[in-house]
Amino acid sequence: MTKDPPRWSNKRGEGRAATWLREHQNYAGRDCLIWPFSRTPKGYGMLGHEGRSHYAHRFMCELVHGPAPEGKPQASHSCGSGHLGCVHPQHLAWASNSENQLDRRRHGTAQPRRIRRTNEKTLAAIRALKGIMTQAEIAAALGIAVGSVEYWQRHDRPLQRPGTSEWSRRGRRRPERQPKQAA
Ligand SMILES: [Zn+2]
Repeated sequence: MTKDPPRWSNKRGEGRAATWLREHQNYAGRDCLIWPFSRTPKGYGMLGHEGRSHYAHRFMCELVHGPAPEGKPQASHSCGSGHLGCVHPQHLAWASNSENQLDRRRHGTAQPRRIRRTNEKTLAAIRALKGIMTQAEIAAALGIAVGSVEYWQRHDRPLQRPGTSEWSRRGRRRPERQPKQAA
């Protein structure tokens, strides 16, 4: 049991959210273990740790199974209740993108075909989360297509698409604000 500890385990001053996860890493209850702290708009648990935002279920998956192995970057829920905030250690496993998609389809939690368009707020989040979450996770959290995340992380350009009346009519329903940092 002297494998390399997860990268956050030796830090002092750990937040109570991370402490809570560690305290529940041997949880063996029958039902889903629901994250009691903050969540994304899609319902996934979030925590701040060392100045960054993390998905709680990924954090738990790494605590229990170690870092994501090559080719299996997704912390997949066997219960299909990631969107309800489940972080049950026994419901989580590392999976490939396609395995995770299959799970989602099986559980009826696949992304609906009609997805939100990227706006200023989601664009800021897409860029802020670059390197912190996988593109698939960002897409799931923001309710946008993975392709959009890929595109906007690759291209450093403003969102404005001048001359599209469609854009000005439908794209600007709400005043834009800086996204709040998930804590
Ligand atoms: Zn569960």
